[in-house]
Amino acid sequence: MTCHFKSLLIFCSLFWIVSCKSQSAITVTEDKNGPIISDTTFVNLKEYSQDFVYDMKYATPDNFLKAKVYDCAECFLRLKTVKGLVEANKKFIEKGYRIKIFDCYRPLDIQKKMWKIVSNPEYVANPAKGSIHNRGGAVDITLVDNNGKELDMGTYFDYFGIEASHNYLNVSEKIKRNRKLLKKIMIQKGFNSFDSEWWHYNLKSGLNDKISNTKWDCD
Ligand SMILES: [Zn+2]
Repeated sequence: MTCHFKSLLIFCSLFWIVSCKSQSAITVTEDKNGPIISDTTFVNLKEYSQDFVYDMKYATPDNFLKAKVYDCAECFLRLKTVKGLVEANKKFIEKGYRIKIFDCYRPLDIQKKMWKIVSNPEYVANPAKGSIHNRGGAVDITLVDNNGKELDMGTYFDYFGIEASHNYLNVSEKIKRNRKLLKKIMIQKGFNSFDSEWWHYNLKSGLNDKISNTKWDCD
């Protein structure tokens, strides 16, 4: 990517942030040179790294809801979540792997849409309470090897059963190793794992950020 193009992207994202300000909880500090990006600003992961693999399940009907709930596939997160994720991915790359992303920030209206399809708190967070995905601090991820092949984590993404739990030990040594690898580095980079879902990670410092309904534009 050329510097010029990158600057244009940053400018566009700033414009997006400012234009969305009225309908969201995002706070953008400004000085005489314009808006300043803070650690809680929502940013698009692809503008900070080109090293991730994407499979945004909710932008297609290939998910447990059997419904496409996002208009387009983008991974927006708060800047501090992006920083942690980029750092974790660097570590994985050193080891011959990289992160594949299934889901990132989820605007509250999308949470409501999901809740309408499946109103069961075991599968979808109740929008009245919200989830860390609505706060921009959660990611659903797995690892792929140098050939882009997913590591065996024992279940597929969004498998709702005991087998998806970190505490379920009736899995092969290989699966245990793969889950452990993902968990170890994510924890090192400031995330918490979630016991019942091997794919879900919360940024520790993002648990109390505000729930947001800011949406991204689709081309
Ligand atoms: Zn999740």
